[in-house]
Amino acid sequence: MQENIIEIFSSIQGEGKYVGCRQVFVRLEGCNLACRYCDTENRPHTHPFCMVEERAGKRRFLRLQNPFSAEQAAARIRKMLVDLPHHAVSFTGGEPLLHAAFIQAIAKKIKGKTAIFLETNGTLVKPLQEILSDIDIISMDIKMPSILSVPQWEAHVAFLQVAQKKDLYVKVVVSNETGKAEFFRAVHLVRENAPYACFIIQPVTPFGGCVAASPQKILDFQEIALGHLADVRVIPQTHKLIGQL
Ligand code: SF4
Repeated sequence: MQENIIEIFSSIQGEGKYVGCRQVFVRLEGCNLACRYCDTENRPHTHPFCMVEERAGKRRFLRLQNPFSAEQAAARIRKMLVDLPHHAVSFTGGEPLLHAAFIQAIAKKIKGKTAIFLETNGTLVKPLQEILSDIDIISMDIKMPSILSVPQWEAHVAFLQVAQKKDLYVKVVVSNETGKAEFFRAVHLVRENAPYACFIIQPVTPFGGCVAASPQKILDFQEIALGHLADVRVIPQTHKLIGQL
């Protein structure tokens, strides 16, 4: 099995419950959604080369021919895990579950060396089910109608019901345009389908015309969520603040 990989590198997790942890990131091509604030260059079949960090965290990259086999990718990851201990290997994108079988093949080759972490938009439940036993931690976004032309509520419900069997946390990006009603619906979705998941409000990093939410709005939204969920945190994208990849 071979797939294109955009990049493999070691950096600091900048979002969510495990912010600050050192992780190996494996970025895969393509996404099934089109969010207005998307800042990821992830179009499929447009990466003839994979950028691989030569040594974990040194920011010197090798330009290696795509596609990669699962064994080639696992070998690069294993080398970084030898360079220094990592909290997890994070499969990201794009939407990594478009490449579920490939992720599973890599995960089996690095099993027991570190945790397997999935950063997902939370809409592709079937591929999640297929590889669930090989995943340890799931970072799931809830995408609200104000940033998408096609709402994803039903897909999110199905996804939450499966993902809550793992170490799951949910992220909701809040901007100036985020409506109270859709935010409330996201809170209820989590309360009804994954009540023990940590719920993270991520103030949007302004990009592509998106305007930041006011400080008061963030406080008000956290108050709404705390009325229904036990663990509600506000965490911005920290890697951009400190110049990390
Ligand atoms: S789900 Fe993520 S990668 Fe896909 S379009 Fe939205 S922000 Fe971009």
